Amino acid sequence: RRDAALAEVRGPGATADGHPVALLANIGGVEDAELAAAQDVEGVGLFRTEFVFLSAGAAPTVEEQTEIYRRVFAPFGARRVVVRTLDAGADKPLAFADLGEEENPALGRRGLRLSQARPELLDAQLEALAAAAEATGADVRVMAPMVATAAEARWFAERVGSAGLGSAGVMIEVPAAALRAEQVLGAVDFGSLGTNDLAQYTMAADRMQGELSDLLDPWQPAVLDVIAAAASGARAAGKPLGVCGESAGDPLLALVLTGLGVGSLSMASSKVPAVRLALSAHALEECERLAELALIAEGPEEARETVRAAIAPEL
Ligand code: PEP
Ligand code: MG
Repeated sequence: RRDAALAEVRGPGATADGHPVALLANIGGVEDAELAAAQDVEGVGLFRTEFVFLSAGAAPTVEEQTEIYRRVFAPFGARRVVVRTLDAGADKPLAFADLGEEENPALGRRGLRLSQARPELLDAQLEALAAAAEATGADVRVMAPMVATAAEARWFAERVGSAGLGSAGVMIEVPAAALRAEQVLGAVDFGSLGTNDLAQYTMAADRMQGELSDLLDPWQPAVLDVIAAAASGARAAGKPLGVCGESAGDPLLALVLTGLGVGSLSMASSKVPAVRLALSAHALEECERLAELALIAEGPEEARETVRAAIAPEL
């Protein structure tokens, strides 16, 4: 019965009362792009460009990058493709973007901080993205990783604009950016919550350390509070906010995130059907009530169970 229900609900994501929630794919390269584009998704919410260059010894040229991005964009036609500029450092080191040993790489010059230290790398990437967008006619939107301040967001948006790209955004994955989302998002066109790093930095728990997985649970009330703060800042700034961390693929949490005001969810494309089905069964007001229940819980298990019990028996 569940398989039949999954197959029956198709097309753009929406709650039972028709509130749209875009359902997007996370991808890491050309092959992923081809697989995801063949699925019923509204586009890409996170293209992790650093994945393409993990084994590259030297910085890829603009021409090499343009060719790869062209092959990533083409399968999506007119659908949106949100591209994250190189998120190098910490758990994703790149040989050609290495600033030397650091005591605490996760707290060091990674993501946008590395782009600020090596702006020529960012400019080459933006030039290639603009050329590939032009060649394919794709709806390309570019966002920066590891942004902490409004000044960083403004610096990035200026560079994206100078490259001739139309839309600049930032990942909200550092608590500082979530708490100041109104100002940070005021400097750009959109935001996307990276709940993997947001949990890591909110809970001060290394995401690479399996023993800490309980602390890294996105249902942790403190993580939900930080997400709620970001959503209210986005609302005040009048800017769209999505989620592209693993949490977006949890159907139950997707309802809570929607209730908190998130307007798009990006995940492994295999997870989209279950999230679409969950959304289609609940009105926006119900999602808002579920979000309230999750926020008042004392711990992650209680939050999950309370929300599950409130919507039983469908999930
Ligand atoms: C995140 O941090 O939640 C995210 C989506 O980015 P990554 O997992 O690539 O750091
Ligand atoms: Mg991240």
